[in-house]
Amino acid sequence: MRRVAAVLVHHPVLDREGEIVTAAITNVDLHDLSRSAHTYGLSDLFVVHPIAAQRELANRVRSHWVEGAGGKRIPDRKPALEILHVVETLEHALAELGSDAELWTTSASSEGDTVVSFPDARARLATEGPPVLLCFGTGWGLAGSIHARAALQLEPIRSPRPDQYNHLSVRAATAIILDRLLAPA
Ligand code: SAM
Repeated sequence: MRRVAAVLVHHPVLDREGEIVTAAITNVDLHDLSRSAHTYGLSDLFVVHPIAAQRELANRVRSHWVEGAGGKRIPDRKPALEILHVVETLEHALAELGSDAELWTTSASSEGDTVVSFPDARARLATEGPPVLLCFGTGWGLAGSIHARAALQLEPIRSPRPDQYNHLSVRAATAIILDRLLAPA
């Protein structure tokens, strides 16, 4: 079984016009993604933000649950928030996992040269190999430059609707993808 971690990227991401922007950190993303990541056995959840004040905000939330009053009131949150690491760039997150770490991106779109199905990706994780960093976006999704540097892009979570609407919140998408890749058989 390979080491698996996740990263939530706030820059570079797209806006609704397809421009590169920096998204603000959403408090509930920190809670929900940490809990999902810990439940499915991930080693780390990285949150990438280039702005120091935003990283401080995220670290304050982490401290509240790991060392502060929140963790004393609801102890179940502590182990989940302990795996949260707030970093400046995606490179910092990859460096934490080692020089051979593979970046796997996610998207609601199936456009891309290296799209891999969930069963195939699940089988790859079950073998020996370098650590994998599962990459999730904010705003209107990850910038093309991030997909371009990835080892692979996971297939999208699809919809049974005739219009194929599949634009999930990053919290819902992460939980579904972790279950497809890592739930016990
Ligand atoms: N502000 C938004 C929110 O409410 O969470 C952020 C939306 S952001 C575009 C959603 C991210 O979740 C994408 O970058 C991708 O990582 C993932 N995602 C959303 N829908 C998806 C789908 N159908 N299949 C795979 N990943 C999806």
